[in-house]
This record gives sequence, C-alpha cells and structure tokens, in this order.
Amino acid sequence: MNVRRWFFVSAALLALVVTSAQPRAASNPVWLDAYRDPAARLIGEAVGSTFAWQRLAILTDSVGNRISGSDALNRAIRWAADEMKKDGLENVHTERVMVPKWVRGAESADILEPAPHPMVMLGLGDSVGTPPEGVTAHVMVVHNFEQLDEHAAQARGRIVLFNVPFTNYGETVRFRSQGASRAAKYGAVAVLVRAVGPPGLRLPHTGALQYAPDLPKIPAAAITTEDADRIQRIAERGTQILIRLKMEAHFDADVESANVIGELRGRERPDEVVVVGGHLDSWDVGAGATDDGGGCVVTWEALRIMKKLNLRPRRTVRVVLWTNEENGGRGGQAYRDQHRAELAKHVMMMESDGGVFRPLGFGFSGNDAGRETVKAIATLLTGIAADQITPGGGGADIGPSVQEARIPAMALEVDGSKYFLIHHTPADTIDKIDPVEMAKCAAAVAVMAFVIADLPQRLGE
Ligand SMILES: [Zn+2]
Repeated sequence: MNVRRWFFVSAALLALVVTSAQPRAASNPVWLDAYRDPAARLIGEAVGSTFAWQRLAILTDSVGNRISGSDALNRAIRWAADEMKKDGLENVHTERVMVPKWVRGAESADILEPAPHPMVMLGLGDSVGTPPEGVTAHVMVVHNFEQLDEHAAQARGRIVLFNVPFTNYGETVRFRSQGASRAAKYGAVAVLVRAVGPPGLRLPHTGALQYAPDLPKIPAAAITTEDADRIQRIAERGTQILIRLKMEAHFDADVESANVIGELRGRERPDEVVVVGGHLDSWDVGAGATDDGGGCVVTWEALRIMKKLNLRPRRTVRVVLWTNEENGGRGGQAYRDQHRAELAKHVMMMESDGGVFRPLGFGFSGNDAGRETVKAIATLLTGIAADQITPGGGGADIGPSVQEARIPAMALEVDGSKYFLIHHTPADTIDKIDPVEMAKCAAAVAVMAFVIADLPQRLGE
C-alpha cells in the first residue's frame, strides 16, 4: 500500500466511522435529548386547555385596566399574589415600589370652526391639563419636526397638529413622546398628535409623552386618523381651523404599588435564577389585555405548568409581574435595586410585552455560546412553529437589571400585525386574543424557561 493509497483508504474508513457516530449539528446537541420528553409534556399541558386565556379574561373582566396608582392596579396585584399561591408557587410575595399617579380626568377636543365637530381624543399620558375653560386656538398642521422648525414663527399661540401617518412604532412614536416640547419651544399652546398606530376605526391611542426639562409644559392629546385627515383637508383649502382642547389631567402624589413575585425553587441550585414576566400595569383605557395582561399570564403559566407536571428544574424559575412600565419604569428599577446582591446569579431574564398572538420564537441578547444553546432549545418548539431566534431580546422592565449585570435577555416574539392597531386604545380587550395562540405562547415560554433553568451548564458558559 503506497502512501497515497493509504491516505485514501484511511480517509474512507474515517468517513465511515464518523458517519456511524452520527455527527450532530450544533442545533441538535446530545444534551437536548433529555429535554424532548419534558418539552412535549409542557407543550401538551399548555395547548391542552384554555386556562391562560380564561385567567386573562378574569383579570380584564373583573379588574379591567390598571394604570399606575389606581385602585384597580392594587386589586390586580392582590389577585395575582393570591392566585399564585393557589397555583402552589413558592415564595409568593409583593415587593413595594413607589409609583407616579397620573390622573386623566375629563377631557375633550372640539373643532369650533369652520364647522362644529367633537373629536374622539385621548390625552397623552403624563400630560399637563388645560385651564378649566380649555385652550382655544387656531391649528398649525405639520408632518414632521423639520417642517415645524422651518415654519417655527407660525407656531406661536397655535395648537400644533403632528399629522404623521404610522410607519412603524419606533419612527412614529417620536411625535407622541417629543412633540409637545418641540412645539412648546416655538410658543405653541397645545399639541395634537395623529394616533400612533395604523388606521383603525376612529381609535385614538394614548401613551406617555416626555417633556424636555427646560421648556414650558403644554397639554397634548392624540386624535384619530380620521379627524387628523379632516383637519389636514380643511387646512389645505386655506381655511382656518379653531379648536378647543379641555383636559383635567394632572399628577397626584406618588403612591405605593408593588411587583408581584412567585417562584418554583430550583432542585439543585436554587440561588441561580431564571426570571420571566410581563407588566401588570396598563393604560387607563381598554382592558390592558394585550398590553400587557397577556404577557403576565403566559409567563406566569410557565411556572404553573411546570408545577402541575412536577417538573422542577435545577435552578429557580421566578415570575415577576412588574408595576409602572407604562409611565415611569419604576418596577424594573426597583427590582434591580432590591435584587442587586443576587443579580450576578441571574442566568437569564425574559419579558413578554409584544402581545400574545401567534408565537414565532424569541429575541435573544447575549454571547454566542448562549445563542447556540437557545437555538438548540428552540428546535423543541418546531411543532408549534415558535422556533425562530432573532437578535435583540430584552424589555423595558428587565432592562435595568440586564444592563447592570450583563444578564442574557430574551423577549417572546409573536406575529405583531394586530398589536399596534389596538395598542394603548379602548380596543385593547381580550376578544382580540385567540386562546390557542395564547396557549402556544405559554408553551414556548415554559419550554425555554424550563430548559435554560435545568441545563447542566449555565447559559452562555
Ligand atoms: Zn407594554
């Protein structure tokens, strides 16, 4: 056998050996096999009932919407803690958080001239109110900040309308959050914003604004796409439009609220923690079903189902229902501060705040090793088509802890096509949510959280 021939024979033999050893793709490692059965059981339990949807219905029907500082949010907090205890979760408790209390009060926006027309409106969250008689002024319509800057002189004494059609949330929300101060800089007396969402059926969308600290605070409200376009048409004909805006909005003193916490303690390393959760507060319209009652329930479901199936992972799985995401973020900040000593033991934090529609998978932020592991776990979710892992996991509530301790972060990703249609509107109600899709969301969260909490090695190592 010459050397050349030896090489070829050996190579062929080696190939045979390798083939018979069944080389495994990175997405199909050996350790994953141990999780096929528990994953199937978790998925079966989640999709085998409408428990998650029914629980959300109780929250949205019996408590309703839950703005920070409201009695409703306090009731929701007590209810969630009681229910977690009934589920058999461990270490159930609430953690005190002081939150701002913004009160909408009565509000209206009317076109007075050229023809009287009451508009459908919602004051923007955290806005100041108007004097009792309201603010009455002519309207200046702009389509972007540049146009406002160009015609700045015309803004003085006017109500500025930002009539910006919705493209995506990231682009369009700027006019809601910054519009009031941008217009106040040029002497505007109030701001109206075309609702931040795709055209609905006369739906105004609320949501928080942010005042620049060095500029006058002027009242701001969202109006519907229909009314924004009506004002636009009248203005384009060269006709003056007179509007009266009345808002009682104001802040009361901060009040006590809480994050709600429940756990399934780890069987081997209970001090290492996987956190899942959503925010229990909502805006003060609709029922806070999609934003974010659904996120609370599907992450909480992960623990309930594990408990019910007697699947106790190596590490602790903790559900946190955060307070005050919408207008302050104090729940997420308080968690970071109250848990600073154990943040280094947080293996992963996951937030569900994009709706509980058809699940697609998860966003993940963390190192490459962690990403490979998460991608492998996601293959256990191909049966419910929730196996995509995309860049960019995170959330407003987990953000403070994740940034401080560089914790791997995940977000449940769902089909978002319906989300912004009802986001922050009176139409955020449970009838928009499908029980089967919601059950699949719970299944996806349960499998991902269980396996990460149970892995022999810590995620990312
Ligand atoms: Zn939300």
